[in-house]
Amino acid sequence: MHIGVIGAGIVGLASAYQLLRAGHEVTVIDAARAPGLGTSFANGGQLSYGYVSPLAAPGVLSQLPSLVFSRTGPLRIKPSLDPDFWRWSLEFVRHCNARANADSTLRLLALGLHSREVMLEFLAQESASFAYRLSGKLVVYRDAGKLAAAERSLELANGLGYPQRRVDAATCATLEPALGRIAGELAGGIHTPGEGTGDCQMLCTELARIVGAHERGTLRFEHEVTGFDIRGNAVRAVRTRTEDIAVDACVVANGLAAAPLLRAAGEPVSMYPLKGYSLTYCDAPADARPQVSVTDADNKVVYASLGARLRVAGIADLVGYDYRIAAHRIDALRTLSAALFPSLRGTPAPLEWTGMRPSTPHGRPILGRAEKVGNLWLNVGHGALGFTLSMGAARAIADAIDGKRPAVDLAGFARLAA
Ligand SMILES: Cc1cc2nc3c(=O)[nH]c(=O)nc-3n(C[C@H](O)[C@H](O)[C@H](O)COP(=O)(O)OP(=O)(O)OC[C@H]3O[C@@H](n4cnc5c(N)ncnc54)[C@H](O)[C@@H]3O)c2cc1C
Repeated sequence: MHIGVIGAGIVGLASAYQLLRAGHEVTVIDAARAPGLGTSFANGGQLSYGYVSPLAAPGVLSQLPSLVFSRTGPLRIKPSLDPDFWRWSLEFVRHCNARANADSTLRLLALGLHSREVMLEFLAQESASFAYRLSGKLVVYRDAGKLAAAERSLELANGLGYPQRRVDAATCATLEPALGRIAGELAGGIHTPGEGTGDCQMLCTELARIVGAHERGTLRFEHEVTGFDIRGNAVRAVRTRTEDIAVDACVVANGLAAAPLLRAAGEPVSMYPLKGYSLTYCDAPADARPQVSVTDADNKVVYASLGARLRVAGIADLVGYDYRIAAHRIDALRTLSAALFPSLRGTPAPLEWTGMRPSTPHGRPILGRAEKVGNLWLNVGHGALGFTLSMGAARAIADAIDGKRPAVDLAGFARLAA
């Protein structure tokens, strides 16, 4: 089959790679001039397979008033007149309960662990350079109550055979010496040795290289998709501004921008941007490059060494499609980074970036066949976990297209209509 894949971010390129492996002819179509220039560009670099709990959780509802009025917290909500904002928010609130949270966490954990397997297979088969490390992940808590709550969800991962353990403050400082400076403030942490880190944009570039070098792979950059030629409930061609590209099937994997395309095709999905920020310190001093990837749970900030660089990422702002870098938000990341790694003071200014997580209300990506258009497949809405989940989601979609039973049950990743 000739399969069109819309989007050359991490999700589209992983899909293209898996479809080529399955024997299909693949054309990747992207509006940008190069791979990985969207949300995949400078994310936190975490391959957080076992740390997948969605934002929609019971405790969030009681925090809503402070989230709406705070300018400085790690989460911020700016109410908007946009009907999509209200539809998304109402669905989000509907999922802020223990049952929905546990259901989503279990499904995401299954997809995360499948992704880890597929990623390890990819690493064994391809020579891809993307600053990947089996770094392990340490999530540190200042609040003993929050640590105790996190310990409960650790049982889920352990139950699935994926080791996670609670560690005390002294062990946190042994795992990452920079934490010694704040060990007195810490209640402890959760350590997951199987997690990895890497540069998502570099992996996009590597996947594009592999796809482009394959005899059945084609990449079309600077081709903005405007819609589909749909006849008899099947996509015949993908419409771009310059040409129609004939396909036998199509995988929609263009992140947040999939929402208007799918709506026009009669397959609306509920997705909204959750804006985040990152800093990249190039040539970071050795003592500002953590050995283990560190998550500061209270401030919701992640730190990852990517070769000689330190990537710091965080913040979740529900502020609509506003692509500007807000000085007070990026400054907050800079202040937190310098407090943990004082040697960053006096280094050249880091690269600043903002990106939009393509978020669904329940925090699960939307994976599977469209409802009305039989040969249209969805791989969108990966929110805060697209780098982590990309490989498993891509394999699951490729399996489903081939009529094989995917390793994860796609029924748990059905779309929520917008
Ligand atoms: C601050 C921040 C930190 C993050 N940290 C992590 C992390 O540590 N770990 C993790 O797993 N995830 C993380 N994420 C989430 C992750 O980055 C995203 O889930 C992931 O990048 C989404 O990938 P994507 O391929 O779906 O979308 P994108 O990377 O946005 O790719 C979409 C592609 O589609 C193209 N496109 C759009 N519209 C069209 C069109 N009409 N026609 C043709 N092409 C089109 C774009 O040009 C783009 O190349 C983070 C996100 C942010 C913002």
